[in-house]
Amino acid sequence: MSPLMVVADAGGNLFEHPEFEMVGALGAEPVAPESSELSPLPAGSKFFTIPDSVPVGGDPEEDALVSVEEANWGDGPVLLQAACTFPAPGWMRTLLPFAERTPGAPVLPLWAYTALGFDEESGEFVCAAVQVDDCPRWEPEQYDDTGLPGRIERMRDAHPENRMIPHLARCAREFHCFAAKNFFARRWEMGLPIAPLCNADCRGCISLQTDDLFPASHRRIEIVPTPEELCEIALPHLDGAEMAVASFGQGCEGEPLLQAGVIERACRLIRERTERGTLHLNTNGSRPEWMDRLAAAGLESIRISTNSATPEWHGAYYRPETYDFSDMEDCVKAAVDAGLYTQINYLVFPGVTDLEAEVEAALAFAARTGLHVIQMKNLCIDPALYLDTLPDIGDMGEAMGMARMLEVYREELPDVAIRYFNRPKEEWHIDPKGSKAGAAR
Ligand code: SF4
Repeated sequence: MSPLMVVADAGGNLFEHPEFEMVGALGAEPVAPESSELSPLPAGSKFFTIPDSVPVGGDPEEDALVSVEEANWGDGPVLLQAACTFPAPGWMRTLLPFAERTPGAPVLPLWAYTALGFDEESGEFVCAAVQVDDCPRWEPEQYDDTGLPGRIERMRDAHPENRMIPHLARCAREFHCFAAKNFFARRWEMGLPIAPLCNADCRGCISLQTDDLFPASHRRIEIVPTPEELCEIALPHLDGAEMAVASFGQGCEGEPLLQAGVIERACRLIRERTERGTLHLNTNGSRPEWMDRLAAAGLESIRISTNSATPEWHGAYYRPETYDFSDMEDCVKAAVDAGLYTQINYLVFPGVTDLEAEVEAALAFAARTGLHVIQMKNLCIDPALYLDTLPDIGDMGEAMGMARMLEVYREELPDVAIRYFNRPKEEWHIDPKGSKAGAAR
């Protein structure tokens, strides 16, 4: 039985529609979800309404789409708006929400808007998402703020001169950054932001928006910390935290490879003092020439982001200023050759990432580079804005669906791990120094 559509009233209260069924979208195309594309709504997911929208459902009797502007359930007419969800971390979205947007409606802020429905049999919400990774360390319930102010105060006392502490405190308190909270709790993966500048201008950048369509959700770091400041806070974390990772390249900064010399020196200082923990870098992959040097200094793991394996789409979304797709690809290859555990942060989007030509391009990219992990990360952006951003989408074949796309990856890339989260070296599926492209899991 198909799930019912979920709608919201003007106050944001959610209701299942008694007659009409859930509809999702691949790109701009409405589709009825298949059972393989749906899951019970995972704990920690968020609900959203889409302002200035009319919800659209499926009428099973007429086999037609129907716009549902208002409902009358006994107390007079109620104006409706579309509802959707943002699935918890570890879950890959399979369908976008489908709704009629009012002309002139504001651009939505940066979330991964996902189709939502209601299953009458179980009495539960369902969402268009499938789980691609499972790591209890990233479950939202682990990030309760009880005790955070005290932990921040203790870190301030321990490192009174270190300029990273006030920055990370703001990230933890105001922007609810999990990596910043982990730093203050001395556990798991912590962030080491270092870069106020970037060499790209992503449409979905959370730390700087140049188009003025909506505000950036985070504030960029305003300083370049010294290697000594980075070592001072990373060392006790790597030495003392369980499953410790120290990560350069966070949501609150620009491109860390623009400060590659600082990373190199900080890694050396840290590795002169401890071998414990994992040193990791999140990057746009713009400077392949640094991979050997950073690996020699002690960097062990890297995650390079791209929205697409199609150069034109990468260019349209990243709007890179001093590099291009070929540099990013060279960076992946250079990282593999340097013995780094090499991951792609693949910013996926239903109806784009699963287009036949994009899947073929991504499989070829994986084969050419020998990357070790593909992280399937939901691209957080207003769907209409993203579709407007990409050129020539109609020339890329049919969308196979995100669930089918995952099967294709697993069949065609048996040696590549499909994940969502960064992992400490204790959890890597291969030894990247002992194995090059296509190494066995
Ligand atoms: S590469 Fe990262 S920091 Fe730079 S514009 Fe894109 S999202 Fe923002």
